[in-house]
Amino acid sequence: MKAVLDADEASELLRASIAGELPDERGRFGPFGGRYIPETLVPAFELLERGIREYLPSDEFQQEYRTQLRDWVGRPTALTFAARLSERWGTKVWLKREDLAHTGAHKINNAIGQALLARKLGARRVIAETGAGQHGVASAAACARVGLPCRVYMGVVDMQRQAPNVDRMHRLGAEVFPVESGDKTLRAAIDEALREWVSDPAGIYYLLGSAVGAHPYPYLVRELQSVIGTEARQQMQDLAGGLPDVAFACVGGGSNAIGLFYPLLGDSDIELIGVEAGGTGDGLGQNAATLATGTPGVLQGCYSIILQDEHGNIQETHSISAGLDYSGVGPEHALLQALGRVSYVTASDDEALEALQELCETEGILTALETAHAYAAAKRWSRDNPGKRILIGNSGRGDKDMPTLARYAARTNANAAA
Ligand SMILES: *Cc1c(COP(=O)(O)O)cnc(C)c1O
Repeated sequence: MKAVLDADEASELLRASIAGELPDERGRFGPFGGRYIPETLVPAFELLERGIREYLPSDEFQQEYRTQLRDWVGRPTALTFAARLSERWGTKVWLKREDLAHTGAHKINNAIGQALLARKLGARRVIAETGAGQHGVASAAACARVGLPCRVYMGVVDMQRQAPNVDRMHRLGAEVFPVESGDKTLRAAIDEALREWVSDPAGIYYLLGSAVGAHPYPYLVRELQSVIGTEARQQMQDLAGGLPDVAFACVGGGSNAIGLFYPLLGDSDIELIGVEAGGTGDGLGQNAATLATGTPGVLQGCYSIILQDEHGNIQETHSISAGLDYSGVGPEHALLQALGRVSYVTASDDEALEALQELCETEGILTALETAHAYAAAKRWSRDNPGKRILIGNSGRGDKDMPTLARYAARTNANAAA
């Protein structure tokens, strides 16, 4: 990917990126990002962009947002020194505890911010889409909090796989709209939600769950999730006596990772490493390692790196963690990779499971399967970097993953017996 930028362009983009000048007016992060959408969607996106420009930076909005983060989400989340894990790995490991945020993951930072924005913009109702259900739950909770009706589009296949989250959304007052079209999973749910949005762009707010999609979503989600890195940076200085040598975060669409990394981009001594789902192997369809193995292309209105075959057909993905199981990635990550500021590696299903178990037993933290990928990569890194200081974005808690863990244990036991 580095070939798309010459050296001068790259150093200018790195400067602009650190200075907070990206995306540019066209919603671009260098060659990536932008807005590749059908004519019918243009008014909805323009309305949203105007609203964001007006309200997001305003003192009134920022104050309201900070208050909700403090009083309802439970921020700042803790920074935890992982003493026993550090001893095992031979490095000094600090955890930014997004699992302690309300609803159990970083997703709520974005959901409550956008729900507040929806109310400010005068929307009468909110729509969202969800695959694994975690963003649906966060959206339902946030909408209940601000007093807006919420409809969550969800493929019928996902509704079966994620039944407990469907119940949670109902309990939180949201309507879950079953999507029967297309692949009956996340991609079809997104198409359905967009169709609905077009019908009434002023009355409906579309609450997107990761740093992906057409401009202004990658920008908006980054701004709302940056609270993770801003807090962590300060906490490292206050509690750890200085900034880390390296920071790790798992990457699905890339929202928790950009939230952690963005406020650290200017600290050029800090190595930043995003960890994608390596699944069961390197073959097409066996993983969700978008940046590690993908190619440039347009997915869901945005030019980024995607998993596609040589004809441009989107590839099916696999990961043990539903939250990383996505064939695209946010455009800002595509740029940061091209610039070499962030490197992206993978961890396999098995490595993630092993890391999850180790964290449980050494620190008493049941982390999310998504997050476990970051631990696996951090452990590998530790072998070559004894004594260094590691910051890990602990994006969420793993209670939701108990059924998957049980299924996997049953399969492993069966294999061992055979
Ligand atoms: C959804 C989710 C992710 C992946 O989403 P990003 O947008 O890449 O952050 C990671 N961790 C947890 C716990 C999640 O719920």
